[in-house]
Amino acid sequence: MLEFFKKKQVGPSKTVSEKRIKDFQEIYNSFSNDQSIDQASRCSQCGIPYCQIHCPLNNNIPDWLKYIAEDRLEEAYEISSSTNAFPEVCGRVCPQDRLCEGNCVVEKAGFGSITIGSLEKHITETAWEKGWIKPIVSSKKQNQKVAIIGSGPAGLAAATYLIEYGYDVEVFEKNDRIGGLMIYGIPNFKLDKSVVIRRHEWLKESGVIFHTNCEVGKDITFDDLEKNFDAILISTGVYKARSLDLNTKKVNNSVPALDYLIESNRVGLGDTPSSNLNLNAKNKKVIVIGGGDTAMDCVRTAVRQKASDVICLYRRNKENMPGSAREVENAEQEGVNFKWLSVPSEIIQQNDIASSLVYKIAELGEVDESGRRSPVDTDIKETLNSDLIIEALGFQPENINEKFNTNLNLTGWGTIKVDFNKFQTSNPKVFAAGDIVRGASLVVWAIHDGREVAKTIQHYLENKKIKKAS
Ligand SMILES: Cc1cc2nc3c(=O)[nH]c(=O)nc-3n(C[C@H](O)[C@H](O)[C@H](O)COP(=O)(O)OP(=O)(O)OC[C@H]3O[C@@H](n4cnc5c(N)ncnc54)[C@H](O)[C@@H]3O)c2cc1C
Repeated sequence: MLEFFKKKQVGPSKTVSEKRIKDFQEIYNSFSNDQSIDQASRCSQCGIPYCQIHCPLNNNIPDWLKYIAEDRLEEAYEISSSTNAFPEVCGRVCPQDRLCEGNCVVEKAGFGSITIGSLEKHITETAWEKGWIKPIVSSKKQNQKVAIIGSGPAGLAAATYLIEYGYDVEVFEKNDRIGGLMIYGIPNFKLDKSVVIRRHEWLKESGVIFHTNCEVGKDITFDDLEKNFDAILISTGVYKARSLDLNTKKVNNSVPALDYLIESNRVGLGDTPSSNLNLNAKNKKVIVIGGGDTAMDCVRTAVRQKASDVICLYRRNKENMPGSAREVENAEQEGVNFKWLSVPSEIIQQNDIASSLVYKIAELGEVDESGRRSPVDTDIKETLNSDLIIEALGFQPENINEKFNTNLNLTGWGTIKVDFNKFQTSNPKVFAAGDIVRGASLVVWAIHDGREVAKTIQHYLENKKIKKAS
């Protein structure tokens, strides 16, 4: 260990931008075993591991780095999977530059962080290859049933732990595929769909029952679930898109980011393309509005669909963007043109179609509640021609009580109100986790919530059994 003095930080090789924009394959290649040993040995094994502290899952990173450096990958996998249900997903999609790697002491000392995410991916992919990941066989049978609504990372992580604790677990998913935003939001070039499908298969083999094309509130009532299950977990995510509010008539070629990404992901998975041609960027001048990870996914998807020009318009500057710096860099390498400090003000329409977008140049003002400097409009206006505008302005929760005909306590933002130590709602039998309690967040937080809510559900169901017996 402590080799950071001698050995340079080297990430896994990345497909060059000219090549990678030709398809939707993942852009980062995997480490060889020798490379992983080399890179893991750079860890300084700090007394206070800031990487671990800044990981939402509190992953024991220094220990598994040490095992990799000693070429003891099976033990590394044991440690890494003891806190994380899906380490191969986090290794690929976590914004490590803001979490573990951004807080690595070696990074702070100016030597370049340990490449934690890529090493995490290496350990888990090796575990799959070598057959170390076996279907879960629980040592107990609880004879109690849990219904999980939604199959994103929060629901799937909870299912993983609950099946291990011995409960009968059924997942209800309104889509035709399992995985939530991991399957229909995050593009293949960041997270290959086979990674998600493999976990779905593994959970099925472990005994989890999945009901796809089954929307709670439509195909089955919440009330039915309450009658037939001992506990219910709501992990339905947040999907109501915030839209541009420019007081102009709605036009068909200004589309919500998620509609656009879902279509691209569906086509990638082999589905027939939709008849809505506004969901394809081919040969179009595309403007994506927003500065988060969803915006980066849209611009990079548009490049791969062979848009003639892709511009990202963001109201703050690069330093104040909410998205991962790594993703912005990837987008820049792939030819995306960024217009910083640009605030949309008008859509010019011709025959009910947006033909151009007018935006105001902004200056940076005071720091706002997000901790970033807010944009202040100037009177300077500029115009960009466009064939397709993609709105990536964030998401809000749908009205869950209306949908489920329930009376759960909600927060002022419309998310489900829970005690974050328990993830229990105002109805003691009902629990909630992931984006539906946090608002739009990260995969790693959803996995964290799934892990923690499974513990509380276990506690709740054990108490229920004891009460019944006494
Ligand atoms: C485009 C995009 C890119 C992203 N990229 C990243 C990234 O790179 N890294 C990262 O960490 N995070 C990323 N995120 C955020 C991350 O995907 C989410 O925070 C995470 O998926 C939330 O998990 P969840 O389980 O709470 O909800 P979701 O993943 O949204 O899953 C909820 C599931 O519930 C289902 N559902 C909803 N209502 C019902 C109902 N009534 N009945 C049955 N099923 C229902 C939905 O169909 C869905 O499958 C991204 C998000 C988006 C939109």
